[in-house]
Amino acid sequence: MTRFHRTVLLTVVAMLTTILPAESFAFDVVVDGKPMSAIVIADKPLPVVEYAAREFQHHVREASGAELPILRESAAPKDGNRIYLGRCRAADEAGITSEGLSPNAFRGKIDGAGLYIVGRDNWGFSSVDARGVSIGRIQHNGTLFGVYTFLAEKMNVKWLWPGRIGEVIPSARTIRIASWDVTWKPPLRHARLRTHYGPVRFEDGWAKRENMFQFRVDQTAWMLRHRMGNEVSLEYNHAWGNYWNKYGQTRREWFPMMPNGERGLDPIYKNYFPMCISSPSFHEHVIEEWKKRRTAERPWVNGCENDSGGKCICETCRSWDVPAPGDEVSMAKLQEQFDRGEGGWERWMGSLTDRYCRFYLTLQEMARETDPDATVIVLAYENYAKPPVKAKLNRNIVVSLVPGMMYPWTDDGREAFRDQWQGWSDAGASLYLRPNYSLDGHAMPIFYAHKFGEDFAFAFKRGMIATDFDSLTGQYATQGPTLYMKVRMQVDGDVPPQEILDDFYGGFGPASEQIRAYFDHWREVSDAVTHEKLRKAIREELDGDGGGWPEFYKTAPVIFRPNVMRRGSELLAVAERAARDEERTAEKVAFLRHGLTNVEQILETQAAYRGYKKSGEPYEFVAALRRLDRFRAKHEHLWIANMGYLRWSEDRHWDRNLVDVHRAENQALPTKWKFMWDPRDKGVRDEWYADDFNTDAWHEIATTSHWEKQPIGKKWKQKHGRNYDGFAWYRNAFEVERSDDEAKYMLYFGAVDEACTVWINGRKVLVRPFPFEENMNSWMEPFEIDVTDALRFDGINTVAVRVEDNRGGGGIWRSVYIAERR
Ligand SMILES: [Zn+2]
Repeated sequence: MTRFHRTVLLTVVAMLTTILPAESFAFDVVVDGKPMSAIVIADKPLPVVEYAAREFQHHVREASGAELPILRESAAPKDGNRIYLGRCRAADEAGITSEGLSPNAFRGKIDGAGLYIVGRDNWGFSSVDARGVSIGRIQHNGTLFGVYTFLAEKMNVKWLWPGRIGEVIPSARTIRIASWDVTWKPPLRHARLRTHYGPVRFEDGWAKRENMFQFRVDQTAWMLRHRMGNEVSLEYNHAWGNYWNKYGQTRREWFPMMPNGERGLDPIYKNYFPMCISSPSFHEHVIEEWKKRRTAERPWVNGCENDSGGKCICETCRSWDVPAPGDEVSMAKLQEQFDRGEGGWERWMGSLTDRYCRFYLTLQEMARETDPDATVIVLAYENYAKPPVKAKLNRNIVVSLVPGMMYPWTDDGREAFRDQWQGWSDAGASLYLRPNYSLDGHAMPIFYAHKFGEDFAFAFKRGMIATDFDSLTGQYATQGPTLYMKVRMQVDGDVPPQEILDDFYGGFGPASEQIRAYFDHWREVSDAVTHEKLRKAIREELDGDGGGWPEFYKTAPVIFRPNVMRRGSELLAVAERAARDEERTAEKVAFLRHGLTNVEQILETQAAYRGYKKSGEPYEFVAALRRLDRFRAKHEHLWIANMGYLRWSEDRHWDRNLVDVHRAENQALPTKWKFMWDPRDKGVRDEWYADDFNTDAWHEIATTSHWEKQPIGKKWKQKHGRNYDGFAWYRNAFEVERSDDEAKYMLYFGAVDEACTVWINGRKVLVRPFPFEENMNSWMEPFEIDVTDALRFDGINTVAVRVEDNRGGGGIWRSVYIAERR
């Protein structure tokens, strides 16, 4: 059929609409479980288009049982319904192209026997095939986003979390689409939850490596399903990091004037230096660098100050300042504080935002000579985080805003964020949201979906052009609604958050209301927490031993108390009953149950850990940790949690090496040791290591925590006003039972902070310097020594350890064993 004929035919059909039932010219994808369409892609499709075709096929099959064929255009039969994905001859002929679209945008249209989805794509697509790649890269996936838009709008598909269990694909024996004609582009130019930095990339913690890779792949696929993508790069942080080394001598005028009258580094914090941002030759340099280095993916002028507050007190910089309301500005106090050698002296200059805005505008003006649309990307940070007082910016100044908020989300914190955002938006800037709060919560069921949704919607309406969340910790089975809100809002920032939550709960079919009640419980628990309450509970119930986001499981016991956990479990049991008769829903509820079990076991393990730290008796802790590891190994393939992130966090405290020791036959040394300070380093000369040395005059100490934390260390501090650094000696006596003549006997240390020398029965068996083999973490790592030849198996052995500690905590701070190795 020529284009002309089809147009005529369609006109005729259109004239008949009043007398024919609507279905008669609808587009049939599947009828009564039979495929009525073929998916057609170009003969040489882009990888993203092939992937889009497989995704289309998968969802239609899950919904209807029908398998749509995927055909290359030249091989496709000419009759029947065709679903054209990506650029191809038919789409070109129908005039449905990506011309004029921005990256990641698409056109979708039903036209006669063709359903066309054509987007702005590129070759950058690799996320779902390659191992663990994230969507931080610049990939343009317009056609794929078109497929997902179709699936969501026309088939009511939802993706609650990564992987198959999180898919909600309503059954439909017939998929018949009345009409579709849409042009879509992502509302944000960059939408990202980071998956490729630091703690969330940690690899230990997964029992099987292939599970870790598949988790990353499915997680990336999930974000793509929510149409998150990046048109440009936002990798612009801290522009002039190595400048002191490079230009410190030759371009001194670029560096800040210090209160001592010299340009250069702050003598108090040498590593964090800002620039003299009013220096004209510095402006010229920044623009020259931009001209040399700019690319299509990274097109902007980088005006992001180094990781520091502004500090230059030169006359020009100061003349650019406009104090913010409430600022107390005093150069005299600044000078005094600097002279005392105290950091933070720069705060006496007040808010430096207007100074920095003038810098940004100057760069922009200069860059406009090269490119009239030049955009400058900058930070709102430290003492230039407050909105400007006078400066008027424009949409081509892109400001990265890092909210100060972490859990718990309190009214004060939220209000401060909104004020800040509003102020920058009123000044005319474009904004991008760069939060850290996603790192919070460990695996705990903290819930702030509603608050996040409201605040995001607020920001979305006021100048937001991009997001970059640090990071996605992937605790899907406990923080599902909050994570779902985070991905949905990136595209649906103007949808009421309550509707998004309804979508999430609606995915649980007959258990929807029960699941809502379950998460409402965690919402109430989370809403009741304030910073004050938390601090008080940590002080009173945990002896002050809480943790911030990197070790939230230490704080969790005062929020997720036994009664709170029990109530959560009961509510989930109600949902389990409601879901019983529907397999897909039952699976989803079971997924949440595994998440809750993980939490229960983490809390138990942390309790056992605290017990071990008090008593020095590790058995319960080791048993709890083993059980937790077994549980996770069994369920990790369901994607209940990013196990790597949990391990990274838990490894900061939990001594997992104990588990390994306890796999072998072993004998713990007595937990009470003899101890003596050696500030003048005379122990070696006086042979404190000798087998028969008398320790009657020595103190007692345990080897399960640093000496600073024990009575003897506290006493030292009381007397001397500071913690002890230097040499100290530990001694103990023990017997070893030899059960196997062939076995080796290893003296195992959980950790010694920092350096040590070890003697057995007066014989030196180890010298371990710090850092050990250049490993700066060796103070927290276990080691063992083969002491078979030095031991007596028929009497008492003595062990002497000389520790040298020069900063931070010191001493033998984890258990010591004799382990038998066959
Ligand atoms: Zn200056």
